[in-house]
Amino acid sequence: MTNDGAVLSSLINGADRTAIRVPTPAAGDRPAILDLRNYGVMAHIDAGKTTISERILFYSGRIHRTGEVHDGEATLDYMEEERQRGITITSAATQCSWRGVRMNLIDTPGHVDFTAEVERSLRVLDGAICVFDGGNGVEPQSETVWRQADRYRVPRLCFVNKMDRVGASFQMSVDSIVTKLGARAIPLQLPIGEEKEFRGIIDLVEQVAVYHDEASDGRLFVEEPVPEELCDTTHEARQKLIEAVADHDEDVLTLFLEGGEVPAELLHRAIRRATVGGTVFPVLLGSALKNRGIQQLLDAVCRYLPSPIEAHPISGRTRGGEEVIRQPQDGEPLSGLAFKTIADKNGDLTFVRVYSGSLRRGEEVYNSTRRKRERIGRVLLMHANEREEVTALGAGQIGAVLGLKETVTGDTLCERSSEILLESIRFPETVLALSVAPRSRADRDKLAEALSRLAKEDPTFHHRTDDETSETVIAGMGELHLEILVSRLRREYGIQVDVGAPRVAYRQTLARAVDAEGRHIKQSGGRGQYGVARIRVAPIPEPVIEFVDDVRGGTIPREYIPAVEDGIRRAAQEGGKLGFPFLNLRITLHDGQYHEVDSSEIAFQTAGWLAFRNAVEASGAVLLEPKMRFEARAPEQYISDVLGSLNARRAEIESLEAGSGDVKVVKGRVPLAEMFNYTTVLRSATQGRGAYTMEPCEYTPAPREVSERVRREVEQRKAEGNGRS
Ligand code: GDP
Repeated sequence: MTNDGAVLSSLINGADRTAIRVPTPAAGDRPAILDLRNYGVMAHIDAGKTTISERILFYSGRIHRTGEVHDGEATLDYMEEERQRGITITSAATQCSWRGVRMNLIDTPGHVDFTAEVERSLRVLDGAICVFDGGNGVEPQSETVWRQADRYRVPRLCFVNKMDRVGASFQMSVDSIVTKLGARAIPLQLPIGEEKEFRGIIDLVEQVAVYHDEASDGRLFVEEPVPEELCDTTHEARQKLIEAVADHDEDVLTLFLEGGEVPAELLHRAIRRATVGGTVFPVLLGSALKNRGIQQLLDAVCRYLPSPIEAHPISGRTRGGEEVIRQPQDGEPLSGLAFKTIADKNGDLTFVRVYSGSLRRGEEVYNSTRRKRERIGRVLLMHANEREEVTALGAGQIGAVLGLKETVTGDTLCERSSEILLESIRFPETVLALSVAPRSRADRDKLAEALSRLAKEDPTFHHRTDDETSETVIAGMGELHLEILVSRLRREYGIQVDVGAPRVAYRQTLARAVDAEGRHIKQSGGRGQYGVARIRVAPIPEPVIEFVDDVRGGTIPREYIPAVEDGIRRAAQEGGKLGFPFLNLRITLHDGQYHEVDSSEIAFQTAGWLAFRNAVEASGAVLLEPKMRFEARAPEQYISDVLGSLNARRAEIESLEAGSGDVKVVKGRVPLAEMFNYTTVLRSATQGRGAYTMEPCEYTPAPREVSERVRREVEQRKAEGNGRS
């Protein structure tokens, strides 16, 4: 499809393209890091993330044909579970390049059970594409990931996908971003036709119409003048765009105030500044399935998303708490964050974002989180499940290393002589648990090792074996999450287990602040053991265990303080008699005693453990239950029944709004314990026309009846366990 005056962009591969308007990186002195983008694609499930990521790889020449998700062929979804279920579980890091700009692309899952994957991606990315389904606009999970990205202050582009599908509306989608997310969403494009009529895209900055050629799978596209009938709308939308970004560029502001024509180059510059600054969210559109708009989206990534240099400054602290700032340059001392581990048959594969300095094959590094030395084996760039070996990862790069033994997600890697601790990644607490019973002796022998491996990969998966009942319990973020882990046990590790009914993963905290002491003194004969730790434990609002070292005058020598901390954390995690981990506590270690000869790390670890147990004894524990944020939809005629069913479940209703058509949307919070089987209840209350989604949001003290019931259940399980063994 060409005509006179059209600009033909031909392309098989990013490097060959002839289209001209994205500034190609200048050779010479320009630092390579400026032409690097680390970004992710995030969205509500089914909005089209995976299809978009596939197209990105296809157009950038990384793959030579596109795999379709519905055929179970997508390149990024490489785990067997993902292919079977057509969803993305683990985020895959992939390198590609577009017009000379190197890109690290992270595909993130959309299902709420896998928010941890989104969280860790956000921690290491500099920018993101938020994908919306053009027929639905903002959906519950798009809201969740948007808020997560807000927390990490990640600059974003919005992409309204599926413009070809029935019900697609660009204006509705943009409006929903503005109203539901409260974001300053500014269209950079307009659709030419929608739904079945969707034919092309108007580029408001350049003021051209872009048409993709179907026969070449969209690789070829032409740029033509804006159709006559859309000229006024285009002009109006361009003025709005200029107004929105004018504050960020004086030249644009002057032209805007004088009513002059703003050249495209100036406008690009202003959009970039506004986007990187997080004040404006440019909106683009297209159809990944129909191969429209992806190259333009990639151009926008290069133009408007920040390079690692422009992204957030790299700040960390020393173990003593002093702030350390690093520049994103290869010449600086190394600082890197491990953000994902994949247990692999050739050893663990650890994904690392290097912030400063470089990570080199064969070199020794220091894990400052665990205070351990590590040797880097091989260094790899990842492409879905393929790897490319390189000698080093430089500042700003994302890749994987083989050979690390102690490092887990959230740990900092640095040089021993220039220690830095980067802020770790905070993962949500697990909310759902179930027991797994190995079927045979052989299964039992392999189970612990397999669970440890799975937990190493997934920080939102926990497992423990109760000493009293010898029951093994696994915990995660939801039913789907646990179902997938159990199926991986079978498929990857060949372990058969019987699974119990899902139950709520409770937590505990202390009723009030208390002082406590842990004494571990044994000095009869031979080398003794001597450690005394005195702590103050106080409730705090944050769902963490915060450890404060306030030991003065050397009453506990420095080298033993980490051991006390380990002991305290272990006791808090074990969760006392009920076995539910403790949260929302600040634990201050302020005093203790030691012995020149008999003190040891083990003695102080035990003292810390005892001190925490004694604090629980003195204060009394409070049971915390997980609450879920929910969104339920049903046609108006059923809504009072739905509200009734939610009220009966101790739900706090926060809003009741009109959805599309006659549908009403109820939002609020509800204890997870009340929501088992709710799908069936909702279906029968609405003749199958209601639906709901929910995700964990907080832990709150459980009412007395619930605490008592849970205590009884735990005792019963213990009694049954003792009966069995
Ligand atoms: P994800 O869950 O966000 O990764 O979404 P997928 O990429 O798996 O897409 C979900 C479904 O929507 C698949 O069946 C895709 O083929 C389909 N899909 C993706 N993009 C488009 C699009 O632009 N138009 C239409 N009509 N369908 C699309």
